[in-house]
Amino acid sequence: MKNVADVIIEGIDELVTVDPGDDTREEGDLGLIRDGAVALGGGEILAVGRSREITETYRLTKGGMRLNGQGQVLLPGFVDPHTHVVFGGSREHEFEMRICGSSYQEIAARGGGIRATVSAVRQTPAEELLEAGLRRLDRMLCYGTTTAEAKSGYGLSLESEIKLLEVARDLNDRHPVDLVSTFLGAHEVPEEYVHRKEEYIDLLVDEMIPEVVRRDLAEFCDVFCEEGVYTREESRRILSSASKAGLKPKIHADEFTNQKGAELAVEIGATSADHLLAISGQGLNALRESRVIPVLLPGTCFSLGLDSYAPAREMLQWGLKVALGTDLNPGSSMTESMPMITTLACVMLHMTPAEAIVGATLNAALAVDRADQVGSVTQGKKADLILLDMPSFRYLPYHYGVNLVDKVIKNGRLVVDGGRRVQHGDNP
Ligand SMILES: [Zn+2]
Repeated sequence: MKNVADVIIEGIDELVTVDPGDDTREEGDLGLIRDGAVALGGGEILAVGRSREITETYRLTKGGMRLNGQGQVLLPGFVDPHTHVVFGGSREHEFEMRICGSSYQEIAARGGGIRATVSAVRQTPAEELLEAGLRRLDRMLCYGTTTAEAKSGYGLSLESEIKLLEVARDLNDRHPVDLVSTFLGAHEVPEEYVHRKEEYIDLLVDEMIPEVVRRDLAEFCDVFCEEGVYTREESRRILSSASKAGLKPKIHADEFTNQKGAELAVEIGATSADHLLAISGQGLNALRESRVIPVLLPGTCFSLGLDSYAPAREMLQWGLKVALGTDLNPGSSMTESMPMITTLACVMLHMTPAEAIVGATLNAALAVDRADQVGSVTQGKKADLILLDMPSFRYLPYHYGVNLVDKVIKNGRLVVDGGRRVQHGDNP
């Protein structure tokens, strides 16, 4: 008697499990199986192995789907662990100003930057933010992202931050991409509080965080710890109070200047420390002794035209589980594409293609506390898989700027086919 599966994918040229548990597999941490197959059922991965093993032990349920992965590589769906996906307006003129010589900080000082998006978001009704968010999530899905983090932080008032978090919740309900919600009320100091920042921090700690928790709108709390934004002491105060209220901390740490953000991430037990261009030797040491996941965002450095990138090689040499994300946002990294990020990780961070794939899947899942559910092709995890038209996993970063994703399977259902969204009606 064979076991039954809803979906069988067989004959896959390279099945990249990112599950190093089985040491018979090739390519180290990638867990590569040639002529591989998977059996899926009930939205989960039932079995992973060679085509012969799987077809001998599994048969399709009536109405099930059999796919052939010849000429293709199968990967776990990408996890994008750092995005600002819910926003209004756009800032392409700032992109042009930077090309003509202005810095990110100069543009912000002239009323551009995060505050420009804040005024756009405050004026945009929730329905419009939702529509724009759905379009972005469609694009993310077509590029292979099946789970993403989503930060608020363009409202910077109780009402507008709640609006953004509610839009993220509705997006999660309505779209196949799973969103992990982060409250980033400390993304910037709102215009009306510029000369009384302390009062805004009181508002964050005394009203906004408790209200976000009361409405169960976020799982994480993040702070932009940076010169001219929030100091280390202010960040510590905000994140400690969030942590006491039940939100897990994350930090935008040591992005442009060293603020000992990585050390603070370790001190308060953050799940991740993100950016880290300006991390010090001490910061690296602190991370090494901790379980904090470094999230590197090379798309931001690339789009801002910076010369410096985070020290990924040192982190990897020390055994840190380096994660990669898009930092999708309208100011400094306008991309939904995780494949593009793997290219930048290889070229600019000197990560190998295998390290970049682990960074975009399993390590990214660790950075959003979802590694028990997604990030690898492992029995019992969610059936979130992507099939790419390429002869080897090395093509992912190598053949850049185009979309090689052919099919995306989310919770065991085909949601992208031939690189395009498949609509299933109302049921996500
Ligand atoms: Zn960010």
